[in-house]
Amino acid sequence: MATNHLSRREFLRNSALATGALLLSGTTLSSFSVSKKITVIVMGAGFAGLSAANQLKKKGYNVIVLEAKGRIGGRVFSTPIQDNSPLIVELGAEWVGDSHTRIKELCGEFGLKLNNNQFDSDLIYRDEYFTTGRWKYSDEWEVKFNKILKDFHQFSQDDKEKLDRMDWWRFLVNNGCEGRDLEIRELLDSTDFGETIRHVSAFAALAEYAESSPKNEMDFKIEGGNSQLAHKFADAIGRENIHLKHAVTKVIQPRKGKVTVECSNGKTFQADKIICTLPTFAVSKVIWEPGLESKYIAAINELQYARINKNPVLFNDRFWKREDFDMVTDRVPHYFYHATKNQQHEKGVLLSYTIGDKAAVVAAQTDEWRAKQIDETLAKAFGPVKDKIEGQLNYFWGSDEYSRGAYAIYGKGQWFRVMPILKRPHVNTFFAGEHLADWQGFMEGAINSGEEMAEKV
Ligand SMILES: Cc1cc2nc3c(=O)[nH]c(=O)nc-3n(C[C@H](O)[C@H](O)[C@H](O)COP(=O)(O)OP(=O)(O)OC[C@H]3O[C@@H](n4cnc5c(N)ncnc54)[C@H](O)[C@@H]3O)c2cc1C
Repeated sequence: MATNHLSRREFLRNSALATGALLLSGTTLSSFSVSKKITVIVMGAGFAGLSAANQLKKKGYNVIVLEAKGRIGGRVFSTPIQDNSPLIVELGAEWVGDSHTRIKELCGEFGLKLNNNQFDSDLIYRDEYFTTGRWKYSDEWEVKFNKILKDFHQFSQDDKEKLDRMDWWRFLVNNGCEGRDLEIRELLDSTDFGETIRHVSAFAALAEYAESSPKNEMDFKIEGGNSQLAHKFADAIGRENIHLKHAVTKVIQPRKGKVTVECSNGKTFQADKIICTLPTFAVSKVIWEPGLESKYIAAINELQYARINKNPVLFNDRFWKREDFDMVTDRVPHYFYHATKNQQHEKGVLLSYTIGDKAAVVAAQTDEWRAKQIDETLAKAFGPVKDKIEGQLNYFWGSDEYSRGAYAIYGKGQWFRVMPILKRPHVNTFFAGEHLADWQGFMEGAINSGEEMAEKV
């Protein structure tokens, strides 16, 4: 393979810079010299929108944040497991990665504590239970995979684009992963992408594994829940500038003059620029005048989002004993982890996490059905646990009204082709969000892309 050290991150940073150059060439200088008077509408109060608004506010711009839901945070969604319970669970993003420098920096700035949230995995595979340390991949595959991770850093751009045209499952098979190794990798890796790895670009997967922290960015959680960061952002932006229950329905952008944004509640806002941080499903529901270019619409139509179901279950004791307990299974409740690590209490929450088709099945059933599946699966390790269940929540991102998924999933041939199209601005609208980021699928990515677009404006 030819050597070229352009990483996934560098590629995206470079393409973002190119987008920025295009934007600057299409905008009059006068609009930049009166920054104080410029008003920017930010569509969406997830981490991309809030981080963009925070940066703009710091620079002295007028900011109007329009959010469809009745809460801030978007796909970061911390909530008590039951009304008045001190135990907080995450229905959206869970882990802050050790390599995620910007979110760690912001937590420092805002005085938020990051707690260790690393786990060591047990496994249930083919009706056998293995505690952590008692299962592993074959030595042969370990050697091969470590070499693959190392070689990735020598890949040329051409190598990477070739890799992108293959799915991750096929890549593993072609590189000698088979039998038990393949089945376990498929179980584990598909939890990262939220759909079977047969749908994931081999480039997106390998770049993630080769460039991530040893625990694959499953390192920390913000004390009190990840939504604490959304609240800190909102205080810095000024709550009066954030309008909840304001779903944008129409964006009118004349070639000259102000943009007008209409909301479903009849309110209308005017501004000079827009930063749109909506997931692509929500972008497609907005009426754009003039309309989005056909290539942009085709890119939206191509991109899928992962179906993840989160089912946190409250138990009256922490029978799993280890605070850092998690477990991968080949059963219907695919993956369990201790969701109340670092929260002192006699009760505790195990979160049952499912992806893809399994997630859709689990989401469609009753609490009773889910409890039975969980009981039958955990019995293998702990004996019957059904009587210990005190309650549960369930959130299926596959039917979330605005995203219809947890995060974007770049499939075969999409990373280098689809993402650059989705990053293109539309008249005075700049697009941001997790799906357009270098750290795609992470809070870090959402923040990076929000701040990057705030710089461009
Ligand atoms: C189940 C799950 C697990 C995850 N796990 C992790 C993890 O462990 N670690 C990690 O770093 N990341 C994780 N993520 C990803 C992370 O949550 C996202 O990358 C990030 O929060 C996305 O932020 P965003 O601002 O791009 O989008 P969003 O948070 O979706 O923000 C967009 C906002 O726009 C609003 N909106 C939509 N339509 C309109 C409209 N018409 N008008 C106005 N507002 C509108 C939405 O309501 C939303 O609030 C996970 C996500 C999910 C769902």
